[in-house]
Amino acid sequence: MTAAPAIPRIGTEEHFAIPEQLEAWRGIAKSTWASQDLEIMRGGMSYHGQRLIDGLLELGEGRIAKMDEHGISMEVLSLCSPGVQLFDPETASDIATLANDRLAEQVRAHPTRFAGLGVFAPHNQDRAIPEMKRAIGELGLNGFVVNSHTDGHYLDEPQFAPLLATLEELKAPLYIHPRTLPDAVSGPFTPYHLSRAAWGYAVETATHVLRLITSGTFDRYPELRVVIGHMGEGIPFWLYRLDYWNGKHQGKTAPQLEMSVSDYFKRNVTITISGVYQPSALDLCLRELGDEAIMWATDYPYQLMHEAVDFLDEITLPEETLHKLLHGNAERVFGLAPAITL
Ligand code: MN
Repeated sequence: MTAAPAIPRIGTEEHFAIPEQLEAWRGIAKSTWASQDLEIMRGGMSYHGQRLIDGLLELGEGRIAKMDEHGISMEVLSLCSPGVQLFDPETASDIATLANDRLAEQVRAHPTRFAGLGVFAPHNQDRAIPEMKRAIGELGLNGFVVNSHTDGHYLDEPQFAPLLATLEELKAPLYIHPRTLPDAVSGPFTPYHLSRAAWGYAVETATHVLRLITSGTFDRYPELRVVIGHMGEGIPFWLYRLDYWNGKHQGKTAPQLEMSVSDYFKRNVTITISGVYQPSALDLCLRELGDEAIMWATDYPYQLMHEAVDFLDEITLPEETLHKLLHGNAERVFGLAPAITL
């Protein structure tokens, strides 16, 4: 196993589940509702099998023992995708409240080892907004996670404005985590499993962030902070082309923006390395975005802790950059106390 690190590591995309959420999924999975989401859930569960379920449900001392084994000081936990967004609005809000309570219990019991991102039901704003205020104000959580679209709707749409205003008011970062493309567009992605982690998740999540940028949402909510995983879901590679073409369309077929697409991406978005352990991709992100825009993450239990640990152990970066990637940026973005060294 890995030797104890000289630099603390904070994982920023680390997942958990609660039994009630899995039970509610099983309830839906038994229904006759035909959906890409259900196919993914059934496929995903059977592909990863019990290891995934066990990993998601294990918190407390068991999870901490695994973190110790891999030299991980702290995990910023988030409820696994698609969170509560498949459920009917009331069930979604019930499970969000329960999940936030369980998460807060873990953080209270192990404040130097766990931090947490709360969940809310975007399709039940009457309950989501008070729950968001409770999650930050009473439970002391560090931000929120949303699993991209909800019933094919995206956060740039006007009905979600109160949610964005609440995030800004709470100074709470929003981690936009992948889920499957909406059923209306997922057809061509389906036959070879392209709708999943290999490709579709990145298309979906990147599209969500680009909608927020190109709709002018960040002009309305300039303080809104968004976090995305998987080395920026491919967007850093596309910044030149996004600026080139969006610039030509602004004021004609797209809203007039105050800045370029890449300017918003650099101002409002922080990325994580979750699940992309490709040195040239990190190099590109460092060159395009700088070392304050990138955070370390393992995407456990969908990917294994040691993959993210080995990736940074095996490449050479300036020590100052390593400090920022491994813990400093996460401390700043999520408002964490300085991480402990194991
Ligand atoms: Mn993930």
